[in-house]
Amino acid sequence: MRYAPTIARLIAELGKLPGIGNKSAQRLAFHILSMPSEDVLSLSDSIVSARNSVRLCSVCQNYTDRDPCSVCSDTNRDPTMICVVENPRDVSTMERMRDYQGLYHVLHGVYSPLQNVGLDALKLKELITRLQQNDKVREVIIATNQTAEGEATALYISRLIKPSGIRVTRIASGLPMGSDLEFADDVTLSKAMRARHEF
Ligand SMILES: [Zn+2]
Repeated sequence: MRYAPTIARLIAELGKLPGIGNKSAQRLAFHILSMPSEDVLSLSDSIVSARNSVRLCSVCQNYTDRDPCSVCSDTNRDPTMICVVENPRDVSTMERMRDYQGLYHVLHGVYSPLQNVGLDALKLKELITRLQQNDKVREVIIATNQTAEGEATALYISRLIKPSGIRVTRIASGLPMGSDLEFADDVTLSKAMRARHEF
């Protein structure tokens, strides 16, 4: 099927989004073309302004529009615990559970040599500096996904932190092996968190 160049471009851009195949991209493109122009403007503006105003929290590396983020600047949170997660979505998953009152650190990935993600690409230096500059932290809970890459990353981080004397724990494997945190239901996640074990 041949489209006008502007429509073809829209389909191509939408098709770059995760989970959007060519057919879905075409459906979305034609839906957008049928929308009132104010709604299209509002959609494009929400994308541009989110992209421009959201940055990484200088403390936990999560996405935020103010620095430090709302979790890091909340004085009711327990500053003695840091939960290390793979990505910003995992923070939302943990927060949904409402059980955990500590702080977070977002790695933005896991060590994955096969996919060319080295340790340098992760926000690990930031975690170590954070622990060195802050003597309140008593426990680091590693909640990377229970995949081979998540396990390898967890082990590496535990070896990195252990010499400092801070307790390092791993979220329990109540979650199915190879599964992502975001697909866990609240009860399973809450159990996995409570049954965490020492490295
Ligand atoms: Zn933060």
